[in-house]
Amino acid sequence: MMNSKGFPDIRYIKGVGEKRAALLGKLGIQNLYDLVHFYPRDYLDFSAVVPIEKIVPDTVCTFRAFIGYEPVKNEIRHGMTIYKTLLCDGEDSVHLNIFNNAYMAMALHEGDEYIFNGKVTQSRYGYEISNPNIISAKSEQLIQPIYPQTAGLNTKAISKIINNGLEEYFKINDTDIIPDGIRHTFRLCHEQFALRSIHFPKSMNDVEIAKSRLIFEELLTLQAGMRKLKTRNKGITNAILTECDISPFVSFLPFTLTNAQIRAIEQCACDMKQNIPMNRLIQGDVGSGKTVVAAALIFLAAKNKIQSAFMAPTEILATQHYNTLKKLTEPFGLKSELLTGSVGAKEKRRIKQALESGEADFVIGTHALLTDDVTFKNLGFIVTDEQHRFGVNQRGTLAIKGSNPHTLVMSATPIPRTLSLIIYGDLDLTIIDELPKGRQKISTYAVDSSYHERLYAFIKKHLDKGLQAYIVCPLVDESDVSELTAATEHAQKLSEKHFSAYKVGLLHGKMKPKDKEKIMSAFVKNEIQLLVSTVVIEVGVDVPNAVIMMIENAERFGLSQLHQLRGRVGRGTEKSYCVLVSDAKGENAKSRLETMCRTSDGFVIADKDLELRGPGDFFGSRQHGLPELKIADFTQNMEAVRQTKAACDIIFSKDPELNLYEHTPLRQAVTRLFTDNEYLSLN
Ligand code: ADP
Ligand code: MG
Repeated sequence: MMNSKGFPDIRYIKGVGEKRAALLGKLGIQNLYDLVHFYPRDYLDFSAVVPIEKIVPDTVCTFRAFIGYEPVKNEIRHGMTIYKTLLCDGEDSVHLNIFNNAYMAMALHEGDEYIFNGKVTQSRYGYEISNPNIISAKSEQLIQPIYPQTAGLNTKAISKIINNGLEEYFKINDTDIIPDGIRHTFRLCHEQFALRSIHFPKSMNDVEIAKSRLIFEELLTLQAGMRKLKTRNKGITNAILTECDISPFVSFLPFTLTNAQIRAIEQCACDMKQNIPMNRLIQGDVGSGKTVVAAALIFLAAKNKIQSAFMAPTEILATQHYNTLKKLTEPFGLKSELLTGSVGAKEKRRIKQALESGEADFVIGTHALLTDDVTFKNLGFIVTDEQHRFGVNQRGTLAIKGSNPHTLVMSATPIPRTLSLIIYGDLDLTIIDELPKGRQKISTYAVDSSYHERLYAFIKKHLDKGLQAYIVCPLVDESDVSELTAATEHAQKLSEKHFSAYKVGLLHGKMKPKDKEKIMSAFVKNEIQLLVSTVVIEVGVDVPNAVIMMIENAERFGLSQLHQLRGRVGRGTEKSYCVLVSDAKGENAKSRLETMCRTSDGFVIADKDLELRGPGDFFGSRQHGLPELKIADFTQNMEAVRQTKAACDIIFSKDPELNLYEHTPLRQAVTRLFTDNEYLSLN
């Protein structure tokens, strides 16, 4: 009767059978635990009643009244029926109309008192209310939960089932997930009170108390899970750096490393001298030079006869990294390979052979690296770039190709500190907080579309100097053929009319990776001077000779995307510009564009983005790879995020494995949250 999660299957709960179990399943409820944690989406509050005299017409109000007489049925046209009666509170009265609901009308009895909730209007007969929400005045439940419902299962039925379920739940689950000490420190109510109050509140105040506790519980469980991921036994690695001299590599670089880059390399190298696998995140703003840090470490690994794999989210990026790293490491005799989805079968066989035999020192690639038949002789170091595009477990998939290899994750998206604490909670953190010297500030302007001609002239002036530019025209909907045509035509027009004397390339989402790649590599070689794109130019693309980023309909992008796009320029020593073209009048859009003009600090922008759009949008749907939250919300509950981090510190300093009796419910909650999760698992 128990299922794998330790709670009875939903079909064994009183009031549920096979049929209802299937309906509840549609709502994501499989077992008793899911049931009691299925929260109302709203409440109907019958508790705040006013005398009829105080009713404000045309507003929603709640009042108590007696039924004046048994509702009278009237047939009106087309089989419509209407039941009418009068509601009185002893002083004043309201006309009640019930349309097409005999069941509701029959349930009302002359002389009985009820509470009514709905919009009261003023007619020439006096006050009137139609099809209101009604409960008996004797009801003990004056605040009624409203649940997300599904066909065949309404909110009342769900409420009844939950009522049955709650008692069952408390019988088998009598210790609180939040340990007593933590509950007291953070002034949280008990689990039983919270669950009862969220479903059957006595007052709206109780709902608030319950909510803050349940939010705390959810965030605590999430953070505890991430903490366990971090401290879990990572095993022992034999990929240990003994020879750590990077000076030959550094002396061959075409530039001097920044202090932040040196620090990052040293921190990683220090981890990699240990027999415990490194698990580190490098966060650095766009253009801070993360790639060369990875290159230095791959160089060191190779010197120590350790193979490396470097995974990028797209072919364009993988190819770019391959070209960069090849150039930097070839002088030392290192052998590298590029493995992507579009590599032919024969070439793929050769690459696999080179990796398996150990002939290749490192490989750069896309998801293609993850396929089963890619094996290594001695994979000891893994780098993933632009990490938030990969689920946490995908890192794991690559890791099992070696024996507990060191892993390094590089994120170009600055993430608000509070969020990164959760999302990257399982990683050690290195921050590159310095841009290479000689970079000029990118000047950013927001203009409306009347500036087009002037902007084209401005771009031409730069192309004439041998520099390059981007124009991005976003599509709202990638699958919208007419929009794609429009954008393509726009690009065509640009190339034929305004830029006919220049080499223009077009990049759009429907292109095959191979064709995109062709265009990109032509752009890299300056065979294309102006790149017109209908999609976001790949995060991470590095063409230092490009100095203008013009973005059409800039209001369609989120702040972090705009920041990423802007980061495509300002990569060389020439002065760079970012022009945001928008005719949008909305406050939110304006505020975003102003932020862009005001600051170039990725972290400031990330915070603002989170504030304006929330974390869902921030990463695209579920790209952050965390379990889905039922009640907590990163944007709304930042304070709770901080508090639960502090609570985690307290708990883990005492009991890193969550082995203590008082932590058993929390440990079980963590396991529940993290099992069956496609991105994360504690195993
Ligand atoms: P990101 O951190 O955005 O991934 P990249 O690694 O692509 O940045 O580096 C951005 C550009 O800066 C590249 O052209 C790279 O060669 C250059 N670069 C990196 N480090 C330095 C440095 N210390 N001095 C000058 N240029 C650098
Ligand atoms: Mg990068």
